[in-house]
Amino acid sequence: FYPQNQYQRVMVTASTTGHRANAPGKVRRRRRCLLRVHLARGPWACSSQELPLLLSKQPDVVKHINAQDAFWNATKTVRRRAMENKCDRKRTNERARKSNVLVQHDTTLGARGEDDEEEDECDVLIIGGVLGAFVAHAVATAVPTARVAVVERNESIVGRDQEWNASLDTLTKFLNALGPVHGYDDAITLRDNVTTSRWKRSRAFVEGMSEPLAVTGVMDCGVSPRRLIDAVRDSLVRRGVRIHTCTEATHVHSHRDAAVVQCRAYRRGREKDSGGGGGGGGGNHGNIPTQVRARLVVDCTGHFSRFAEESRRLRSKRQPLLHRPPPASEPRGHVVVVGGCLEAPSWPQGNDVADLLACFDTVSQDDIRFGQPLWEAFPADLDVSGTTMPRRTVYMFAYIDDHPDRPSLAEYAGRFVDGLSRYQGVDGHGEEVGVVRFLAGALPCYSDIEGPHVLSEA
Ligand SMILES: Cc1cc2nc3c(=O)[nH]c(=O)nc-3n(C[C@H](O)[C@H](O)[C@H](O)COP(=O)(O)OP(=O)(O)OC[C@H]3O[C@@H](n4cnc5c(N)ncnc54)[C@H](O)[C@@H]3O)c2cc1C
Repeated sequence: FYPQNQYQRVMVTASTTGHRANAPGKVRRRRRCLLRVHLARGPWACSSQELPLLLSKQPDVVKHINAQDAFWNATKTVRRRAMENKCDRKRTNERARKSNVLVQHDTTLGARGEDDEEEDECDVLIIGGVLGAFVAHAVATAVPTARVAVVERNESIVGRDQEWNASLDTLTKFLNALGPVHGYDDAITLRDNVTTSRWKRSRAFVEGMSEPLAVTGVMDCGVSPRRLIDAVRDSLVRRGVRIHTCTEATHVHSHRDAAVVQCRAYRRGREKDSGGGGGGGGGNHGNIPTQVRARLVVDCTGHFSRFAEESRRLRSKRQPLLHRPPPASEPRGHVVVVGGCLEAPSWPQGNDVADLLACFDTVSQDDIRFGQPLWEAFPADLDVSGTTMPRRTVYMFAYIDDHPDRPSLAEYAGRFVDGLSRYQGVDGHGEEVGVVRFLAGALPCYSDIEGPHVLSEA
């Protein structure tokens, strides 16, 4: 038992005695059963908590936290209903039927009719245009004759503003693997253009260590996703890769010789039927295909991929009974992340060192529902620090379950601001700290570590 988990699965082995018809005497039979132990709820109760001034004065940040909290609350509500046995089996089955987004057919499609205007055709179709843009570029470079297409549901293919932290060495290898990107002599030139910060010292620290562990060569730079994806997207367009923006892939039908991906028009918060629109950012600016036929489909739709979810569900059905609890389709836990890019006149502990992991809180009974808070911090946006205050990326995260009593993301954000003075020596409740960008989210983690689900060899 871990104190922060309020319920646990426990395997119990019990011995009983019994008779076997053709065996003399008694034999011991072992029975195994799985008990779900639900620990009594603690003294805590979820209360709505207002955001600290640092965050509440920024309407965008409040909106973002509320949106993410709605998702996190929905996750916890599902758990609450399951715990209270309120799951309506019929509705659950209906939902499962509706989620048949991967369909395998034992048929051959044959050649595509020339007057089939409904259907687009390519060799490789990438769904999702963040890491998918890189996959598309690597394929288009490696096989110049291949017809490559990307479908992205957003209006454009752009990277986020918040930096990606990465290892310089891995980043260089990664950019090399993309193949020549138009407008850049080599991977090093591109790398130097997209890295916004670099530092030499990194460390890891856990309460109780006499001194932090020095780490080199790992997570030692910050990359601008916006700049990197802009460069790759422009290069994709020049290489003739077709980009369908505002296009959401809904189903993948796999036949023996090809796969057909069904698509529809997508607007954030408003989904429409196919047939219009198109956006910028290298997008199609024209009709949105209702279906795209491809010989290879690559799912790059990220952590909340409906295709990966379905694939996990299909896999868990095939798992032997002993491996079932919990099914692969059920998250083993969640990682809650709050934080982002902050600026302050000075960072007392220095802004030339990164923390890969810092853990300085012990879990007390009062705040047990928060789990074990872990922190990380990286120098940020060094190239603009001449004109603005020095910036630092700081995140707090915790690995927890989705018990209904777990705190809201707003509460985690409040705790993040409280912890800044102890962790970074800056007062989050004072005037000096500013928020440049803030992110909050609860991401499910799966124990399923199998490779991708391959529908057919087409
Ligand atoms: C707080 C936080 C900090 C992070 N920090 C780092 C970091 O420092 N370094 C790092 O490497 N990573 C970091 N990450 C992870 C980072 O988000 C991922 O590395 C990266 O964005 C994953 O890219 P992706 O393409 O797999 O998914 P996503 O970025 O989620 O992109 C998926 C794309 O697919 C599109 N899409 C989804 N469904 C469909 C559909 N049905 N049809 C068409 N398009 C679809 C979406 O619109 C989206 O554009 C962080 C994440 C968080 C939450």
